[in-house]
Amino acid sequence: MRIGVPKEIKVHEYRVGLTPEAVMDLAHRGHELLVETGAGLGIGFEDGDYEKAGARIIGDAAAIFAEAELIVKVKEPQLHECAMLRADQTLFTYLHLAADKPQAEALIASGATCIAYETVTEDRGGLPLLRPMSEVAGRMSVQVGAHSLEKEQGGRGILLGGVPGVAPGKVVILGGGVAGVNAAQMAAGARADVTIFDISTVRLAELDTMFEGRVKTAFSNHGAILAALAEADLVIGAVLIPGAAAPKLVTRDNLKLMKRGAVLVDIAIDQGGCFETSRPTTHDHPTFEVDGIIHYCVANMPGAVARTSTFALNNATLPFVRAIAGKGPEQAMAQDRHLAAGLNVSGGKIRHQAVAEALDLPF
Ligand code: NAD
Repeated sequence: MRIGVPKEIKVHEYRVGLTPEAVMDLAHRGHELLVETGAGLGIGFEDGDYEKAGARIIGDAAAIFAEAELIVKVKEPQLHECAMLRADQTLFTYLHLAADKPQAEALIASGATCIAYETVTEDRGGLPLLRPMSEVAGRMSVQVGAHSLEKEQGGRGILLGGVPGVAPGKVVILGGGVAGVNAAQMAAGARADVTIFDISTVRLAELDTMFEGRVKTAFSNHGAILAALAEADLVIGAVLIPGAAAPKLVTRDNLKLMKRGAVLVDIAIDQGGCFETSRPTTHDHPTFEVDGIIHYCVANMPGAVARTSTFALNNATLPFVRAIAGKGPEQAMAQDRHLAAGLNVSGGKIRHQAVAEALDLPF
């Protein structure tokens, strides 16, 4: 199959649909790879790296959209990209259509087969193409939280790990899912005093076994969270209720309980945030202060570590790209219900029930 990788065009998006290694893997399987010039330049993948891997470098996105049968991207296509898609093409990327009717309508109009990373499923019940980004955001939350605790950043002037003779900082993690566990691993690795909250007792038991005493677990309820806030130096919000806005676990009034210069990192900001005072920020201006508490609320945290994120995403997407390219999209989806769950649009129709309901469009 002829596979095209256009350069991402959203501002500050340096990730790329396929790494040179993934290109080599697909070329080795007999596929033809077209990569837009400069597609990976922002994260150190030169055009020459792609050429060595077996790709043909193409001067502009229009030529890729004209020639490719399968287009592999990272972010949702912009409207002028949707306009270049045709009914005989397959698009494989993050779409997040439920909140983007103009994009949904443009993809419907294209007639293309559009498979969304975020709705592909797996046997153990998770979302395998979202997991890598939660892993990145979880690990990064401790890094940015530790930085924000520095005096120059407005923080309390606390070193998370302490030093011999000085107690470590206290980290509270709300939500012990993928992001929360990865945050806990980093915080515990930095020798902080870590407590992780979850509403699932089953999950708390798993966490207890996983961390063997290096991290404390707590059942998430309002009283327990308030008690932890008063002690915390860094609070990381990593809750998720699938399909719903994040619950507001900390109100503005609750901030009064916290120490001045303590830090809130709201990973769940892409679902509206779990702190009442959160509002989305960007990597250019990631933090702001409310009532003496530093807030970090970047909605696309993985974008800051685009190289790591690209490799992590490719590890998860490549098996599906192989299947789509090797068997064709119809056959690949017929043989894999988890890939089929990724189908959002095809033949001029929305094919995913939840997406259709969210957009109030026929399914
Ligand atoms: P997950 O489903 O793996 O984990 C969520 C956990 O939250 C679950 O264990 C659940 O039991 C727990 N939970 C739900 N309500 C709770 C409550 N009231 N108190 C305590 N725990 C509660 O989800 P995930 O993959 O870890 O994602 C977490 C959040 O991070 C999501 O909102 C996701 O969209 C977001 N995210 C943000 C970025 C970013 O750049 N900001 C990147 C990736 C993921």
